[in-house]
Amino acid sequence: MILFELRCGNDHHFEGWFRDNAAYEAQVAAAAVSCPVCGATDVAKAIMAPRLNRATGEALDLAAAAGAMRKVMGEIRKKVEESCDYVGENFAEEARKIHYGETEARAIYGEASPEQARELKEEGVEFHPVPWPATEN
Ligand SMILES: [Zn+2]
Repeated sequence: MILFELRCGNDHHFEGWFRDNAAYEAQVAAAAVSCPVCGATDVAKAIMAPRLNRATGEALDLAAAAGAMRKVMGEIRKKVEESCDYVGENFAEEARKIHYGETEARAIYGEASPEQARELKEEGVEFHPVPWPATEN
């Protein structure tokens, strides 16, 4: 028996068990499979949503997971770009000035080397590393 995720012409999603793919094809061709919501018999296999549950032993869709992660990182990037001043490689210097009240307090973003990040942390300057996807993605 195979479980297929199906959808009808009205975009209702439901599942159906079939002996095999041929049985599925035959039953659909004979209009023997109908949507439990609206009764439509124009059903087709739905695109399976990527499953990320390792416990069930389902295949992990890495490409889809990576795509979803890039999307989230892209949203973070957009939010930061909209609400913060870009200071580029002067990030460590600017963050320090703000921390010590030598310049106007504001949200900034930019690049810092691991070394600079460590120094800022030691000085108690508040900052958060952000994963930064390339814009073209
Ligand atoms: Zn339906």
